[in-house]
Amino acid sequence: MKTLWRSIIDLFFPPLCPCCGKAIDDVSALVCSDCVASFDTTRHVIEPDNRVLQLFADLEKVKAAASYAYYYRQSALRKAILRLKYGGQPELGAWLGQLAAMHFLQLNADWFDDVDVVVAVPMHPNRERARGYNQAEEIARGISQVIHKPLISGALARVADNTSQTHMTGEQRRKNVVGAFELKDNQKLKGQCVLLVDDIVTTGSTLRDCIRCLNPLRGTTFKVMTIGVPMHEGQIDESMVIDRATD
Ligand SMILES: [Zn+2]
Repeated sequence: MKTLWRSIIDLFFPPLCPCCGKAIDDVSALVCSDCVASFDTTRHVIEPDNRVLQLFADLEKVKAAASYAYYYRQSALRKAILRLKYGGQPELGAWLGQLAAMHFLQLNADWFDDVDVVVAVPMHPNRERARGYNQAEEIARGISQVIHKPLISGALARVADNTSQTHMTGEQRRKNVVGAFELKDNQKLKGQCVLLVDDIVTTGSTLRDCIRCLNPLRGTTFKVMTIGVPMHEGQIDESMVIDRATD
């Protein structure tokens, strides 16, 4: 909730939209209504075999996957996500998470019913310290608030800055390291349906590493949710690679 002082400041100096720079008309929004209207939303939650799920087709514990909207170079959504990641505006994450969860519920009121817990793709602690927050966790927080399922932090950790490694040492295998991720807590996610959240999905390799790391947990299943996905199948333009590489 805004403080009285903040509300007075906003009255005289309305906050500016991070996507287009115009004053924001809706006091409860963080992006102007024109830019929100321009978000090119998907219908993934009523298309069970959508192309985000196809990225995880060989992982049998993944029950569903969906992105909120298409993401491309000039899109307002990309500008909002870049501001969230690099503009020191973590509140944009929770707001985007809420917007996406509400969109999913509007299309498919049952989509979150089987979800038990919400988990964000973790960030490496050094990077999180530098940024001050993990944008995926902020998005997950917004989703958790809308769907009333708990956000679990710390069960999965990012232990390496690199994104993928095919060969593991014996010690890494013993420590449940897959790719850049390590399972830190065996109990919190065991037997749960985990809603795994990230800002954007491109090749799916980061999310796949998270799922493969959690895969040994007995009875655990997964749903994947991201805010953005490339516009066309197989399209990953240079801007997206740059956006991802700096994670
Ligand atoms: Zn705008």
